[in-house]
Amino acid sequence: MEPKKILLHDDELPKQWYNISADIKMNPPLGPDGKPISPESLAPVFPMNLIEQEVSTQRWIDIPDEVKKVLLMWRPTPLVRAYQLEKALGTPAKIFFKNESVSPPGSHKPNTAVPQAYYNKIFGIKRIVTETGAGQWGSALSFACSQFGLECKIFMVRVSFDQKPYRKSLMNVWGGKCIASPSNETKTGRDVLEKDPNCPGSLGIAISEAIEATISDTTGSTRYSLGSVLNHVLLHQTIIGLEAKKQLEIIGEYPDVIIGCAGGGSNFAGLAFPFVLDKVNGKQIAIYPVEPQGCPTLTKGPFVYDHGDTAGYTPLLPMFSLGHTFMPPPFHAGGLRYHGMAPTVSQLADEGLIHPLAVSQLDAYEAGILAARTEGIIPAPETNHAIAAVIAEAQKAKEEGKAKTILFNWSGHGFLDLAAYDKYFSKELKNVLMSESELLAATKICESYPKPLRLKNR
Ligand SMILES: *Cc1c(COP(=O)(O)O)cnc(C)c1O
Repeated sequence: MEPKKILLHDDELPKQWYNISADIKMNPPLGPDGKPISPESLAPVFPMNLIEQEVSTQRWIDIPDEVKKVLLMWRPTPLVRAYQLEKALGTPAKIFFKNESVSPPGSHKPNTAVPQAYYNKIFGIKRIVTETGAGQWGSALSFACSQFGLECKIFMVRVSFDQKPYRKSLMNVWGGKCIASPSNETKTGRDVLEKDPNCPGSLGIAISEAIEATISDTTGSTRYSLGSVLNHVLLHQTIIGLEAKKQLEIIGEYPDVIIGCAGGGSNFAGLAFPFVLDKVNGKQIAIYPVEPQGCPTLTKGPFVYDHGDTAGYTPLLPMFSLGHTFMPPPFHAGGLRYHGMAPTVSQLADEGLIHPLAVSQLDAYEAGILAARTEGIIPAPETNHAIAAVIAEAQKAKEEGKAKTILFNWSGHGFLDLAAYDKYFSKELKNVLMSESELLAATKICESYPKPLRLKNR
């Protein structure tokens, strides 16, 4: 019998991360003056050792032993063959997934939270401030900070703070302090609340609040941390794809198709980037980041220079964006409601090395429920978007009679998202689309932003 899951031993944990910046040309981040920023200008926000990783073009970067010790709590994660799902679909395709739901907070996010907490700690930082959307990042960072004895403060987007009280409980158990954003603690928050006291919040506003709270601590012992989008975050996540490669090699497989859901791009990139390297070197692989139709950044947004946050504190990043003032509707795609997309993922999409897809909320939940009823694990709402694309791909394989090998990232479990599943069953969930006029308004704003250069990496 062929194996259901392919496991690696502790001593097979990858020893280095893969840095895609060694292999693709990128437009630089720009400062307020429109010129490329110096790494030093980020020093009030991030510790210098992480800034060095952010700008590094070294292909392989060693994973410190102290980081490996913590990652070994749940890594290497299993590579699972989804036989039960394949059978339900009657597809000739082989479907594999990396199960990132087995981490303590239940998602891929601690893959970067742990090294970020470690690098802050050895840089002498005492307190990390961040934002969180659905609460996955806040809980992952709280967990990581608890491992290294750091304080953690989290600005959590108001709608999720109200919809997902247990994520806050997780943060509290790991010692994090979680407050609803917009809050009265920052000027950004107070300004927003003055205009709209019932503002549901957004990731962009929460990022602005967290950065403001960081730079207003004049003792120098606080830094900010981001759970997605930036180069060093995606770097840390490549451990997923590097493990997957080893695991597939063990059984003599190689993927024809790679799929991951994309909010800021980190879990997708984590799985895909080690394979993108092969694609740049000539391999044929179809690589699909999948986003919700309610926040169609990669599929509908323009490729521009935009801020990562609402208040415009971050440098201008070259990315697909719906505009940093874009307020996504409060639908249930959890962490997929960010206005922008990681610059490296955006660059690959712009030049056609990866092909973005968008799926509807109802298709995503339907897919997630089929996955739960076949493979057993209840997926996070974000993961459901990847699964919807996997199912479509497996059905295509059936029509074409092709035994393709599909690899996807099961980015997290949905134990704290069960209320959203209840809404699906009671038919309260509807498809959330951006109307043509909303889309036009968003892209119009973005048209005034600086344009990145068109680069070709292949
Ligand atoms: C945060 C999150 C995502 C989306 O973030 P990315 O940076 O795009 O990976 C996807 N899945 C889960 C389970 C998450 O927690």
